[in-house]
Amino acid sequence: MNKTYPVKGFVYGKVSLENNVVVVNVTPRKNSRAICSVCHRPSPTYDHLKERRFKFIPLWGLAVELCYQPRRVKCPEHGVKIEKIPWADGKSSVCEPFKLFLAHWAKSLSWKEVARHFKVSWQNVFESVHYVVEYGLKHRCLDNVKALGVDEIQYRRGHNYLTLVYQIDSHCRRLLFVGKDRSVKTLLRFFYRFGKERTQQLEAICSDLWKAYVKVIKRKIPECVHILDRFHVMKYLNDAVDQTRRAETAQLKHDGYEPILHKSRWCLLKNKRNQNTSQLARLRELVQYNLKTIRCYLLKEAFGHFWTYKTRWGAERFLKTWITRAMRSKLPELKKVAKRLRKHQDLLLNYFSFKERLSNGIVEGLNLKAKLTMRKSFGFKRLETIEVALFHTLGNLPEPPATHRFY
Ligand SMILES: [Zn+2]
Repeated sequence: MNKTYPVKGFVYGKVSLENNVVVVNVTPRKNSRAICSVCHRPSPTYDHLKERRFKFIPLWGLAVELCYQPRRVKCPEHGVKIEKIPWADGKSSVCEPFKLFLAHWAKSLSWKEVARHFKVSWQNVFESVHYVVEYGLKHRCLDNVKALGVDEIQYRRGHNYLTLVYQIDSHCRRLLFVGKDRSVKTLLRFFYRFGKERTQQLEAICSDLWKAYVKVIKRKIPECVHILDRFHVMKYLNDAVDQTRRAETAQLKHDGYEPILHKSRWCLLKNKRNQNTSQLARLRELVQYNLKTIRCYLLKEAFGHFWTYKTRWGAERFLKTWITRAMRSKLPELKKVAKRLRKHQDLLLNYFSFKERLSNGIVEGLNLKAKLTMRKSFGFKRLETIEVALFHTLGNLPEPPATHRFY
């Protein structure tokens, strides 16, 4: 204990084994004075409270607990107060190093699993992660942010959205903000918190075409390059394929044809390169029919070429041709997307001004990670809990200092 977690002003005493729990007695160092928990100044002792137990990191499969009798101080300023206990704050019964330990494991395991493995309550795990996140948010540095990504994510069932703002610079990628809903107010709240000075230093921002976002970005940072990123464009196109497929399946069934589009959803949405042989065979079979879905799929695939251009003007020429093809395709869903892209052509082409500095997969990667966190935290009812979980895995937050790392 002295080697890994020395505590100033206190000494470790007797260690005993009680019902498979290693109990470590802690006493104040002789002549040391207790510290007022309000003003953090040494004060004379008033009395002693009942013995309390604090959970420490388990050892050899045994739970470890610190046993201490807290003092009350008579602070000249605050009156009778409980002393400040350096290894645990407030009412918490989990020692600080154990909190860091649990929070560390909560990055790779679900909170439930962490609780089970280390024999603590779910609440203890939440408390620990919350502690670490709170510290991190307080101590993170928000300077030097040049590029932002705005994304939305669904939570709970139904149309509940969270707006997530990421930093997507090549030197630092992390979650900066979580806001309820995806309204104008939500994003404004981010800029308000981010501050005027930092906002003025922004150079690029990626987002989808959600009206509220576009509006706020135009109003708040008109000089910043607004980019419609690849991930969201491909999402629009995939949605168009999916909707076309659904409508056509229904139509074919209605007309009495065999259900050829049945179970083909994945081979249509996946990128060609990522398909296995049976999916490719299925695709080949599907292509023989002159189906709307297939034409829509092929046009979607053709759009992939757009991202390979080296120059803005080359991409612009390609985009024009592609939009013309899409508009003549007689595919209402795809036409809708084409119209949107035509309207926001500038945002789409802005990608080529920043191509060197923003790799394509960033927003997508962060989105994927956020979704995974949401899935792992499935069942979290309170928004605060979801927020803590997201910041914990994606925030890239600074950790509280420690004399020894137990993990
Ligand atoms: Zn005081």
